[in-house]
Amino acid sequence: MQHRAKKSLGQNFLKNQGIIEKIADAADPTPDEVVLEIGPGQGALTKELLGRAGRVIAVEKDDQLFEYLKTEYASAINQNRFDLINGDILEFDPEVLRFYGSYKLIANIPYNITGAIIEKFLSASFQPEMMVLMVQKEVAERIVAKDPKTGRPGKESILSIAVKAYGIPTYICTVKAGSFVPAPSIDSAVIKISEISRKNFLNKHHEEVFFQLVKAGFAHKRKILAGNLKNILEPDLVAQAMNEGGILLNARAEDLGISQWLFLSRYVYNAQYGI
Ligand code: SAM
Repeated sequence: MQHRAKKSLGQNFLKNQGIIEKIADAADPTPDEVVLEIGPGQGALTKELLGRAGRVIAVEKDDQLFEYLKTEYASAINQNRFDLINGDILEFDPEVLRFYGSYKLIANIPYNITGAIIEKFLSASFQPEMMVLMVQKEVAERIVAKDPKTGRPGKESILSIAVKAYGIPTYICTVKAGSFVPAPSIDSAVIKISEISRKNFLNKHHEEVFFQLVKAGFAHKRKILAGNLKNILEPDLVAQAMNEGGILLNARAEDLGISQWLFLSRYVYNAQYGI
């Protein structure tokens, strides 16, 4: 089709069939499953997903691409297997999918809204069971928090801890810039976040306490964790919680793994809510 890629909508279209199959293999949608695709674009990934999943729901913001897909995939739409929505994914309410029981989010997403998309769907009242996403390589490395050279655990960040609070991130593969048209300036990677749930949280208040701690803990990069937490908690409580959790008093936020953050948040939640 004749289409001038719009930078403002992060339009880098996948042209590598091997990568398209790797994304679909990682998510492995079956004929009884529902897939939500963000930004189907010219349909490269959509075609593969329609061949595997029972139903695909795709949200595309670009009016011209929406019209193109509507014609190109008219038969899947008529068979009631493909719902094409012309809109902004950031305004989409995942609750409308509850009717289907569960869904997988699979997408080559626009990079300028990667963080917003991940946050929106992980914290949604109706979360996907799994996400398989194309993101910038550096973001993928940050999410799995592994040193790309050695494969050893790397430094954690708000992003990696937030993702691990809800699911299990895995690095699927690196995708060279030449796999897209137009080619972006840097390489990308496919990541999978599986087993998405709220099972780590006792309830909504505990979830809130967890994120208050994580945000405060990472607020000032140069300060140690205890110093940052003292901005929102009594110093004694910070010292007790860290001591009980076996966390060094001079540790930095980036040194703590997800289980240590969960311990701290439970300790503080219990102290604040008197349990
Ligand atoms: N899925 C296609 C592929 O793999 O070739 C296109 C991927 S391209 C990186 C991102 C797509 O998301 C584009 O089609 C773009 O128009 C669409 N898009 C950008 N911002 C969006 C938004 N806020 N909501 C829905 N779609 C959006």
